Amino acid sequence: MAERDPDDRRRARAVLRILERTYPDVRPLLHHDNPYQLLIAVILSAQTTDAQVNSVTGQLFREFPTPRDLARAQQRAVEHCIHSTGFFRAKARNIRAAAGQLCERFDGRVPHAMSDLLSLPGVGRKTANVVRGALFGKPAIIVDTHFARVSRRLALTDATAPQRIEKQVAELLPPASHYSFSMRVNYHGRYRCLARRPECQRCEIRILCPYPESVGCSDCC
Ligand code: SF4
Repeated sequence: MAERDPDDRRRARAVLRILERTYPDVRPLLHHDNPYQLLIAVILSAQTTDAQVNSVTGQLFREFPTPRDLARAQQRAVEHCIHSTGFFRAKARNIRAAAGQLCERFDGRVPHAMSDLLSLPGVGRKTANVVRGALFGKPAIIVDTHFARVSRRLALTDATAPQRIEKQVAELLPPASHYSFSMRVNYHGRYRCLARRPECQRCEIRILCPYPESVGCSDCC
């Protein structure tokens, strides 16, 4: 995107103010009791739904309650637990290896530096940003399919590459609000700004969104 229009900043802040009222609770939808569990759950959430991940993590963390337990687990046993999340062989390898790295390099704790998180197997920027935002209160723009779609419809970004979307949206808002904005836009994508049929007529932020007019209301309402 070329030079950012100050109006985009005002619009992004206005979107956030409305979505703060619309979605007051921004805790992650992935069930977890501690940082280790959230990290593993986010790795498992690739290419599947949060509900699917939540359906397997109860048993997974009962069987392997600490990073050390998971690092020492048999590949087959972990695969069995997470089978229904898809890509289960690669995910089992990644979460076992990530747990091992937590033990070897970080004293069994989840690190907060982006570079440390990105060095863990199975952890990309989305996972790292969820962990940094949810656990450590760091500025974090979390680009998943919902966030990317809603941000583009709102014309807050024209990018398709996640890292470019992250950068463009981050420019519009104070760092302290990045995580809050991410989670709320994500919720809006799940519950209102649906992929196939966004509910523009009922949308809380329609007044701030150019999408309905750009496509004609019959396409989206
Ligand atoms: S007006 Fe429509 S396209 Fe824009 S954010 Fe709302 S639901 Fe999504």
